[in-house]
Amino acid sequence: MTVRHIPDPEELEALRQRYRLERERRARSDGARQYRSTDAEFGYYAADPYTEPAEREAVRDTVDVAVVGGGFGGILAGARLRQRGVERIRIVEQGGDFGGTWYWNRYPGVHCDIESHVYLPMLDETSHVPEWKYSPGEDIRRHAVRIARKFSLGPDALFSTTVTSLAWDEAAEAWTVTTDRGDTFRATYVVTATGTLSEPKLPGIPGIEDFAGHTFHTSRWDYAYTGGTPEGGMTGLAGKRVGVVGTGATGVQVIPMLAEDAGHVHVFQRTPSTVDVRANRRTTARDVGADREGWARERRENYLRIVSGEPEERDLVADGWTRSAVLLEKLLPSFRRGGDRKAFEAAYEVADAAKMNELRARVERSVTDPGTAEKLKPWYRYACKRPAFSDAYYQAFNRSDVTLVDTADTHGIERVTAQGVVVGGTTYELDCLIFATGFSVGTSGILSGKLPVHGRGGVQLLDRWGREGPRTLHGFTSNGFPNLIQMGTLQNASSVNFTHILDEQAVHAAALIAAAEAMGAVIEPSRADEDAWIAALAEDAPDHEWFHAECTPGYYNREGRGRPNGPFTYPHGAVAFHELLGRWREESMGRILRARASAADGGGS
Ligand code: NDP
Repeated sequence: MTVRHIPDPEELEALRQRYRLERERRARSDGARQYRSTDAEFGYYAADPYTEPAEREAVRDTVDVAVVGGGFGGILAGARLRQRGVERIRIVEQGGDFGGTWYWNRYPGVHCDIESHVYLPMLDETSHVPEWKYSPGEDIRRHAVRIARKFSLGPDALFSTTVTSLAWDEAAEAWTVTTDRGDTFRATYVVTATGTLSEPKLPGIPGIEDFAGHTFHTSRWDYAYTGGTPEGGMTGLAGKRVGVVGTGATGVQVIPMLAEDAGHVHVFQRTPSTVDVRANRRTTARDVGADREGWARERRENYLRIVSGEPEERDLVADGWTRSAVLLEKLLPSFRRGGDRKAFEAAYEVADAAKMNELRARVERSVTDPGTAEKLKPWYRYACKRPAFSDAYYQAFNRSDVTLVDTADTHGIERVTAQGVVVGGTTYELDCLIFATGFSVGTSGILSGKLPVHGRGGVQLLDRWGREGPRTLHGFTSNGFPNLIQMGTLQNASSVNFTHILDEQAVHAAALIAAAEAMGAVIEPSRADEDAWIAALAEDAPDHEWFHAECTPGYYNREGRGRPNGPFTYPHGAVAFHELLGRWREESMGRILRARASAADGGGS
């Protein structure tokens, strides 16, 4: 039964104080610098455990479009381009196959916590109906491969390959693409789809390198050591003392699985997640209305409208995300549309406290030891951290072979030694130490600086942006960088259902490229186009500062530094952004298509 108690003003004040105290207990002066990237001597943590790179000749040819990244973003770009008749599409991917985050994250218990019927793209086009309301990761990875196959993206793809530079060749009016496997090829257009959370990160705990037992990151699961599959059966962990660092969305999924198979599990927690009801179940085509054409598109649009705070009569998905939509989008839509901010904030705080009380009551009901239950209670506003969902997580702590070690007072684990992990002066001896410590934010692709992009006149994209800040039109294109289309949230849109955003971006990229091909043009906005877009973003940017300032530290607020991570997104939400893009394609797309120099010279291509 749901316990929903509406708090009075006194309780609200007590909550505010408690939240402040808990935030201060966790705040660290080193912010995001507390983490260590998985390169150099820690490269072991990022190596691909699933695929041995195939020997192959370096490629030296010409394609129509190079797509950087073979996750859902890159696959959707490829599929939408194919639908527009583009022939030579080359996806370049670091992993050994398609799938992106679903290629890498194969840990036991991995599932998507967004409903499969809205998360999995191109269900209408592939006539596929997911079997579960929340799909196991392996089903999602297979669906990524299914789309890639349907649109024949495999034959030209390069796997286990990293793009190392992109350079615009003025004379050829094409990009030169180089990779770490010695490839140098030419592409008329480049689409970057490098993901937002793709590089595993480690905590900068002293002594990690001294640990004498076995260790790995959850996104590179070592089944050779643990045995078993994503469904469990890890016979290699029988009798072993296993430590897990991290209790985010990944930790919440993997910890109950480890509890089943390991000798003893120590969970090192710094901040507890909010863990709401999962209620996963098998679904039939009938349950989701999959007997009608366009059912998946309709369901996905319905979901996006609800989680974006748009008015919608029906809630087709009806789960923890849609029911908490008003808490997810913080100030949407009333504040965004110029409502009474004070009244909205007051109503929001009451709704938030009621929801968080309900979640804390869930911990109390589920965990038998009161001391452990107390430590598992989250003391911050909903969605300060990525909400998590599980019906097995809290129950795992009722087992005698699972121990919760709270590290908040010491700002996380103090030290790792050859024997194990040190917290509060106690050493927890371990055979295996698993890091569920998440991913660096905004460090993949162009924004990380690891993929240099040289545009007209050899100018580096990040050098230009370093001087003036990011400059784009709609987040996709930039002046001085012709025929380069970026996918991602930068000056674009975002939503919890990110594959929907990626699909709209793919549709847009394909439309731009098809129009440029039809007109013999290059795609390049003017500086005035960029100025107008940046002004539009800044003018209506909602003030989320107060929300992030009051939140417990995490990657949503730059580890407690009080501002949302990264450059801003379109302020009126994803639904409005998609409408804006649709209108722009109809009315204004021609503005950023310029005649190719070769066409102006009368030359052919
Ligand atoms: P997160 O970044 O969300 O969590 C990292 C965890 O490591 C946190 O609990 C963090 O604590 C902890 N941690 C970091 N440093 C230390 C330290 N020094 N000592 C102790 N603990 C430490 O990573 P996840 O992999 O869980 O999730 C990343 C993202 O991936 C999610 O936010 C979500 O977007 C996505 N995801 C989605 C899933 C889905 O079903 N759709 C499933 C899994 C992940 P603290 O909170 O205190 O910083």
